[in-house]
Amino acid sequence: MAQAFSTLIPNDKIRSRITELAAEISADYSSSTEEHPVLLLCTLRGAAFFAADLVRALTIPCELDFIKVHSYFDDVNPAGIPVFELGREISVAGRDVLIIEDIVDTGQTMDLVKRHYTEHGANSVKIASLLNKPSRRLPGLKNMVDPDYSGFEIPDLFVVGWGLDFNEKYRLLPDVMVYDPKAE
Ligand code: IMP
Repeated sequence: MAQAFSTLIPNDKIRSRITELAAEISADYSSSTEEHPVLLLCTLRGAAFFAADLVRALTIPCELDFIKVHSYFDDVNPAGIPVFELGREISVAGRDVLIIEDIVDTGQTMDLVKRHYTEHGANSVKIASLLNKPSRRLPGLKNMVDPDYSGFEIPDLFVVGWGLDFNEKYRLLPDVMVYDPKAE
């Protein structure tokens, strides 16, 4: 019988990659100050684990807030329609915003979020994502929402762990694992 879970990215690799990303981000935002800190917006719930480690490894002044986007899937919208559940009103005028995401898949969530904060006057909006599935990107979003900081590029596989879930399960797994619900 096929295995439901198999390790794709082990815990130690994730930890060391987050340390590298934090150094890169700290260098790129080195002009941020206590008066003008970077605004980090963590997408709930999946990115909470990534954000907690990333933020604590940054060496620049920053503020942390949380946003939540829900995607509705139906026959008319099989790729999903994302809507803000939390964080739409966060004031971003003149701020450098860094979205912290768990995974960029079709790209619709990051497209909504990036466009929203850009239209509301952010000085810059960038994306840091633990995982990136470029092969899943909707044709209209190709190259539009590629993470500025990407932990790992992965193929078109469904993964859980390190904050990523399947129906709210398996978020706490310590590794990023490929999950096949049909094999359980
Ligand atoms: P989007 O398709 O890029 O808009 O991604 C929307 C959301 O789908 C992500 O933030 C994740 O919460 C979820 N998602 C996409 N791929 C996976 C996966 O492989 N495992 C778990 N969640 C995923």
